[in-house]
Amino acid sequence: VKDEGRGGLRFFEARMDAQLQARRQLEQELTQAIDRDELRLFYQPIVNAGTGEIETFEALIRWLHPERGFVSPAEFIPLAEQTGLIARIGQWVIETACETAAAWPQPWRVSVNVSPSQFRQADTTAVVASALARNGLASDRLVVEITESVFIQDADRAVQVLNALRALGIRLALDDFGTGYSSLSYLQRFRFDKIKIDQSFVRDLESHSDTLTIVRAIVNLGHNLGLHVTVEGVETAGQLSRLRDLGCDQMQGYLFGRPAPAAKTSEFDQARLRS
Ligand code: C2E
Ligand code: CA
Ligand code: CA
Ligand code: CA
Repeated sequence: VKDEGRGGLRFFEARMDAQLQARRQLEQELTQAIDRDELRLFYQPIVNAGTGEIETFEALIRWLHPERGFVSPAEFIPLAEQTGLIARIGQWVIETACETAAAWPQPWRVSVNVSPSQFRQADTTAVVASALARNGLASDRLVVEITESVFIQDADRAVQVLNALRALGIRLALDDFGTGYSSLSYLQRFRFDKIKIDQSFVRDLESHSDTLTIVRAIVNLGHNLGLHVTVEGVETAGQLSRLRDLGCDQMQGYLFGRPAPAAKTSEFDQARLRS
């Protein structure tokens, strides 16, 4: 029995080693991804809910791995956060997004995601300021999206950084609104420019009658606080017509366009809300 136990343990350790090695390899490959030009930004349109005109594109990162093909950010962003690589990747995202947006028609804005550990580790304000200056992009054409988890470790510092970003003239969005534990309390700590209602609410819109009531309440709350309200994950005409009646300001989702390479954004030029 003792021997068997030891064998099981050895097997377990071997498996842990293999996992650790796979992780280290991915980490190693991610370290080189920037230098090897394997990272890409895709852009997804965010449209005016009333007119259907494009107002913003959200930049969404992809990793074009030489063997695995496109790796989802859900897979490698957490790894980048744990290893500290997120600082360099995040800087690359901000610079690339500003460079791309500088070539767009004037009214279009670009929205970038800044992850919590990037927000804590790196001097995000300096990175944003230099990316705007280097590319000659007006600060009011950049939106930074953060989630409420940036407040968890050191809320006072988070508010400081947000204020410094605000002072640059960029817009600030609270992403994934309604999914965390304390979304409401963070609205009190900092005045965002907009909230993005998480796509989980939209998914349930037609199946759960209460969801419509909840989304309506969030839209009204946002408007009463003077915030713009974007709804994410709109996929169907049924969702669109329900959401339209609620008076949300912007919509984003596969119904209007999937994330696509920068070269494709010009094709959206004439895009109109389908009705
Ligand atoms: P997110 O910021 O909430 O981004 C929205 C996600 O929903 C994107 O997934 C987008 O492709 C997807 N989406 C958009 N419309 C629809 C729809 O109609 N239906 C469905 N089912 N999904 C839709 P993606 O690109 O895989 O990104 C996942 C997450 O990875 C993002 O969630 C964000 O948290 C993170 N991420 C992406 N790019 C970056 C980045 O550049 N930096 C950082 N720090 N995080 C990023
Ligand atoms: Ca986002
Ligand atoms: Ca989101
Ligand atoms: Ca998310």
